Amino acid sequence: MKIDITQLHEGANPVTFSVPAATFEAIIKEVDDLYELDGADCEVAFDVERYDTTLMVKGTITAPVIFSCARCLERNHETMQLKLSWTLLPRSAFATSDITEEEGVELTADDLDVSFYDGDEVDLFEIVREAILLDLSPVPKCLVDSCTAVEYLRTSAEEAETPLPDPRWAALRALQAQTIKKN
Ligand SMILES: [Zn+2]
Repeated sequence: MKIDITQLHEGANPVTFSVPAATFEAIIKEVDDLYELDGADCEVAFDVERYDTTLMVKGTITAPVIFSCARCLERNHETMQLKLSWTLLPRSAFATSDITEEEGVELTADDLDVSFYDGDEVDLFEIVREAILLDLSPVPKCLVDSCTAVEYLRTSAEEAETPLPDPRWAALRALQAQTIKKN
């Protein structure tokens, strides 16, 4: 899904499209064989905001997948709902600048969702592909059902075995010891 940025309005531009099931399957197969296609297309609803040459791509990717749980091996059907916020900057604006590593642009976690585009064209499919690959866990687990319950019981039992001493009781005990001494 390529868009010509010269055709975009300043501000919000709604863009919706589908990634055909076969193309979507090729993406999820890049994450080992943990994921399978659930048959349906992947639906994309974006709002491409343009501010001069900066583009902000925001929106949702809805993608149905099947995966085997890494904990209980149960097969799960899940509809991924990816909320995405991606910034696109023109590469030309950075190519000629002499930003050094020290004084240069400091990268924060938020900047990880930044990429560059060349010319007047942006391929939204590449953003969809990257977002899906970033979101798919290499160790997928069931979200609901007995699998999570088993994990919860185990964690609770472990916590129950080592109760944390309550500092308020410690203060009371110290006070009690003092009172006993005085008497
Ligand atoms: Zn499971």
